[in-house]
Amino acid sequence: MSFRRWGDAALLRRLLLPLMILLLLPVPVAAQKMIALSFDDVPRARGAFFTADDRTRRIIAELNRARAPQAAFFVNPAAIGQGDGVGGDRRIAAYVAAGHVIANHGNTHPRLGTTTAEAYLADIDAAEAWLKDRPGYRPWFRFPFLDEGGKDKVKRDAIRAGLAARGLRNGYVTAESSDWHLESLTRDAVQAKKRIDRKALGRLYVRWHVEAANFADGLLQKVAGRQPVQMMLLHETDLAALYIGDLVRALRRDGWIIVSADAAYADPIGTEMPDVPWAQGTLTEALAWQAGVPAPRWYRYNDTDLATTVFQDVVLGRGAAK
Ligand SMILES: [Zn+2]
Repeated sequence: MSFRRWGDAALLRRLLLPLMILLLLPVPVAAQKMIALSFDDVPRARGAFFTADDRTRRIIAELNRARAPQAAFFVNPAAIGQGDGVGGDRRIAAYVAAGHVIANHGNTHPRLGTTTAEAYLADIDAAEAWLKDRPGYRPWFRFPFLDEGGKDKVKRDAIRAGLAARGLRNGYVTAESSDWHLESLTRDAVQAKKRIDRKALGRLYVRWHVEAANFADGLLQKVAGRQPVQMMLLHETDLAALYIGDLVRALRRDGWIIVSADAAYADPIGTEMPDVPWAQGTLTEALAWQAGVPAPRWYRYNDTDLATTVFQDVVLGRGAAK
């Protein structure tokens, strides 16, 4: 019996030493998916369900309840006080008071492809004049329609130089799922008094954005050899007011850490200036294109025809559910 106990103790000693050495070794940092949230076109016209004030209250409350960190809200100052934008300045201040930050999305949301570089930069300056002394301001510019000049490299470079001269950085995005399209399908369906399966709608909104983030993660790992902190593009929509908390929780369940917009834009990937035949879209897509990754380099439900078909099947209950 005593021999048996001695044997156990020796075995324990033999196991314990290597175990202790193993515990003292530096542990390699595990790969980690990280993403920040951003909302464009603030203040946006009202959607299907809420007044603009109600929508802002709900977005702030949902982000709070999900304990989501600082998000970025990209503002079009010309929309403030116009139509649905009445009270827009108050709502923008409410986002900042809730701990979020604001940045430039152009004064009038111009499309670079249909204007001159000079007019485009003047529009950026007009937005800066409104933004730059406000609390929560960040020197970031997000291209409306993610249009950075298309095939016109002279214009693309003029804007890149113009942003640098103003101390502004590109407020790029790495992942998106055309939430604006899902929002407009929903608004049209409500206006046409169609029956909407809100649970199914929420599931689509959540699933498509989680999938878009993972799709971008796969491409970025391929071209960057690491997992840069990502930036997700959303809009200030009624869908966000309804489902942004669900989306945050679903991302976490899928292994994502939600980080602040400041943390996302501290990632060195933001210094990349990809040179591709057509400058428009996510940074992920441009980097993948530059690296020779074959198409498609964008998430499949950015195909609005495909998204419409699934919306009709699943949310409006037509045809077989997918
Ligand atoms: Zn926009």
